[in-house]
Parts: sequence; C-alpha cells; structure tokens
Amino acid sequence: MKISLLEKDAKYVWHPFTQMQKHPTPLVIERAKGTVLYAEDGKEYLDCNSSWWVNIHGHGHPAFKKAMIRQYDQLDHVLFAGVTHPKAVELAENIIQLMPPSISKVFFSDNGSTAIEVALKMAIQYWYNKGTVKTKIVALDGAYHGDTFGAMSVSQRDYFNEPFENLFFQVDYIDFPFENEEERVLKQASKIFKKKDVAALILEPLIQGSSGMRTYSSTFLNKLMQLAKENNVLIILDEIMTGFGRTGSLFAFNQVDTEPDIVCLSKGLTGGIVPLGLTVTTNDIFDAFLSDETQKAFLHGHSFTAYALACAIACANIELIKKPKFSENILRIQEKHGAFKTKIEKNPFIREVRHLGSIIAIELIDQTEKSYFASIRDTAYYFFLNEGLLIRPCGNVIFLNPPITTKNKELKKMYAGIEKFLKFLTDK
Ligand SMILES: *Cc1c(COP(=O)(O)O)cnc(C)c1O
Repeated sequence: MKISLLEKDAKYVWHPFTQMQKHPTPLVIERAKGTVLYAEDGKEYLDCNSSWWVNIHGHGHPAFKKAMIRQYDQLDHVLFAGVTHPKAVELAENIIQLMPPSISKVFFSDNGSTAIEVALKMAIQYWYNKGTVKTKIVALDGAYHGDTFGAMSVSQRDYFNEPFENLFFQVDYIDFPFENEEERVLKQASKIFKKKDVAALILEPLIQGSSGMRTYSSTFLNKLMQLAKENNVLIILDEIMTGFGRTGSLFAFNQVDTEPDIVCLSKGLTGGIVPLGLTVTTNDIFDAFLSDETQKAFLHGHSFTAYALACAIACANIELIKKPKFSENILRIQEKHGAFKTKIEKNPFIREVRHLGSIIAIELIDQTEKSYFASIRDTAYYFFLNEGLLIRPCGNVIFLNPPITTKNKELKKMYAGIEKFLKFLTDK
C-alpha cells in the first residue's frame, strides 16, 4: 500500500516549493487530531508550524465538523454576483466588528494571494476612479505577499521569482527597520512618499513570515503608517499570517493606533480548515467605486467568491476566538515561548531568538549561505522529523507557530527537540 501510494505520488504529483528531481520522499499523513499528525507507517509528528501557519484550534475540531455538515445540508455553494446568502453576511458582520472603526466593507476571495491581488487592484483603481495618477506601490524589503503576479511583484525579488522579474510592475522598497535603523528607514519612506506617485504602502505588520519571522517594533509600524496617512498613501496591512492571535493580540493592528485602509485576511480565518480570503476596507474606498459608469465598479470576482461552506466554517472560528479559552491559550504559549527563549538564547550557535505571541524563531549562525536552501535547513528538517516534529525551517531560521491548543507537554517536546538539535550542532 505504502509503496504504491508513494509510487503513484511520484508518477502523478508535482509538489510546491520542491525540486522534483531530488524527489525527497514525502511523508504520508493519513489523519490528524489536535496538534498530532498520524503517518501511515504508524509514526506520529507534532504539527509545529500549524500546517503552513494556518491551523489555530488543532486538527479535527468538532465545532468545524458541525458547522460544515450543517452548512452542507443547507447550501453548499452559490454564485455571489446578484446573490447573497446568510453565512456570507454573518461572516462579514462579525469580521467588521473585529476591525478598526473605519473598516466597514468585506470583499471575499479564495486564499491569501487573491486577497492581496484584490487589495492592490482596489488601491490602484481607487486613485484611478478619482482621476489621480498614482500607481506605485511601496513595500518592505524581505516581504512575502503570495505567489500570484501582483503578490510576487510586491514581494522580495530573489531566486523564488527570478524568471518573472521583467514582468513585474514597479515597486519601491524601503529597508527593513532593524533596531537603530528605524529613524533612517522612516526618512527613506518619507522621501519616496513625497514624490506623490505612491498609491499604497503594503506591509506584513510587526513580523515578516517568510523572510524568517523577522520582527520589528509597533512604534515603527505606527510611525510609518502615520507617515503614509500624512502623504495620502493608502495603507494595506497583510494580516494573512499575523491575524487571529499569532502576534499576541487578535490582529497585529491592535498594537498600533493608526488605522489601515485595507486589511487582508486568510490562513487562520477559517481556523485553517478550508481556504478563504477576505479583503476588508473603508467606506471611503468603497465610495470611490460608486458611479453611473459600470467601468468604475470593482470588476473582479472568483468562481468561489464567498464560498458558503468556507463562510460557515469561518463563522464557527469567530465563535471559538471569542471564548476566553482562546486568549488564555495564546497567553499560555506566549509565556512558555518566552521562558524557552531565555533558556536558549545564549547558545553559541544562535544569532538571535525572536518571540512574538505564539511564534518563536531561532536564527542560527550559519557558516555556509543564509538562504532558504542553506544546508542547515535540510539537516534540521530531517533531524526534527526523526524526533517526531514536523518543522519547516526558513533557511537558517527554525521556528514554532503551533496551533494555540497545543498542550504543554507537546510544547515541551518541541523545545526538547530544538535543544537536542543545538546539542547535535555542538557535538558535530
Ligand atoms: C501565506 C501568506 C500569503 C499568501 O497566502 P496563500 O494563501 O498562500 O496564497 C500572503 N501573505 C502572507 C503574509 C502570508 O504568510
């Protein structure tokens, strides 16, 4: 059975972010419960990165099963142009209640990348509809906003998207605000904004995921957002990874007092159970699309816009995050991570330990090359698998962002695995 499944996988399947020539044998995961992934060969793995950072309440949560079955019996899917349905409206209302006061409208799509495409198109068409020539986007060095063309254009330009580079639209990047660099970066941003051709600033607030869980201060974020406001630059916050408790607060924007114009949500939006994307925005932006002319409308949509099953699951997620247990769990993991940081940060193989909410990232000193494909990455990945931990490092950065329902003894096992790896590096 195992041979034939893996043989068929090799024969028919093309995996993401994978050099298929190497064909590293994929793990065969048959079922999952809570934080545990059960492999077909009887082995168990802890889902230390929440199945690509999406899972919030653990696998197989009964609330989602109930919501999914109930919704399926009611309505599976229906087109969303000229039609609406109860769960889409319920979700929109619930999400708006969680957003800053000026955010008042929800646009639905399918995943993180599409939520970003929608945000970029909204921002650019906003100025177009107003008759103002502003098309430039400003992004942060090291950004990751997804793998579709618009999202790639505003992300870090490197070997991931090199073949497409001459097709990307123009983006100005500001430097990453490392400690002591913040004032200089703000000046750099101010200079770019003053050129008056900037439509929008796009940011992963407080922490950049794919660049290795790089954190920056809420003070800087707030100042940069204020600067954008003063210069009439729309602010797009990509909360696809940070949303739903990851940074300690429900959203990263809860840690600043400047309001964004557009927020993108996905990943944890459905508890990580099914794909769904949302782009939420202000009445000011919405109103710029109101006109007697059809072409001023937002002429964008997807086959599965406001997919009813996904909306029902996202509603169930919002019920779960409103329970006290949710914030208790985030606080619990935050404290455990903090104690672990103190315990290991002096290790000579560690350059820096970064900790924010339920995320802890350990940047190793890497003698070879600091990149996604750095050799230490593969060594670490297989070392952890052997310890029953599924951890996908970003280059020389090992990080944990487990479901917030992860038990203390499971956290202990993750920390022990990392300490064992550090010892392995010492003994090597
Ligand atoms: C994952 C991610 C995306 C892209 O989302 P997909 O659903 O993978 O397309 C965009 N921005 C951030 C910050 C992400 O972490």
